[in-house]
Amino acid sequence: MAIVQLKDVHKKYPLGKTEVHAVRGVSFEIMKGDFISIAGPSGSGKSTILNMLGCIDVPTDGSVVLNGVETKDLSDKEITRLRHQFIGFIFQSFNLVPVLNVYENIEFPLLLGKEKMSQAEKTQWIDFLIEQVGLTQWRNHRPNELSGGQRQRVAIARALVTKPEVVLADEPTANLDSATGEAIIELMKKINREQETTFIFSTHDTTIVDIADHIIRLHDGQIAQEERRER
Ligand code: ADP
Ligand code: ADP
Repeated sequence: MAIVQLKDVHKKYPLGKTEVHAVRGVSFEIMKGDFISIAGPSGSGKSTILNMLGCIDVPTDGSVVLNGVETKDLSDKEITRLRHQFIGFIFQSFNLVPVLNVYENIEFPLLLGKEKMSQAEKTQWIDFLIEQVGLTQWRNHRPNELSGGQRQRVAIARALVTKPEVVLADEPTANLDSATGEAIIELMKKINREQETTFIFSTHDTTIVDIADHIIRLHDGQIAQEERRER
């Protein structure tokens, strides 16, 4: 089943008296459990596409269908709920809260939602995620006591805490050295395999691209090539 569909999506940004046609007729389908890379050079439209998938931005034309639901038919309130339940976000700059420790950063999205979890279940779930990303020893440390790779592992756990179907990661390795970046993508792949969470990450790094099993290569806002590999 396709859990994400883009159908002939266009995005134009106004720029002075003209406009930038950032995404030009992009269509693709993502299946549940995919480990997919949106690849392409800077300016090719990767962020714009991820923002539309995350309902942070809307297409100028075409449609974004998430979990079988046409997003343009939803109210703002319904979009907020869909975003919270269906999508987890990982950013290139980690976006952790400096005054909160590892545990508290991961817990944060749960404070905004209405998850029906007892305190004990919540603690058990967060500690399980901390273990999954290899940070048990760092549970009570704050972000400034962690390396870049460790910070991104906190962000991965935080993205998973609401049990989303899809995790969106915009250039998650951009601020990491290449070995640490590869380890981060491999960790996401392990979680993808074990928990069947769908991961969509963007990158301009060709080594990282190769770890994906579904690759969409963009060039100037269009799909230049799409590739599926054996899992
Ligand atoms: P990538 O993530 O691949 O670097 P982007 O999606 O950020 O590409 O950008 C695609 C194109 O859209 C670029 O030409 C960029 O300058 C333009 N663009 C992106 N965001 C905006 C914006 N808010 N306003 C105007 N132009 C934008
Ligand atoms: P990772 O592969 O997760 O990025 P590194 O190999 O960079 O980890 O770090 C190795 C060890 O050094 C880790 O235990 C990490 O906590 C510690 N470390 C790295 N950078 C810092 C830092 N800026 N402050 C404190 N400890 C750090």
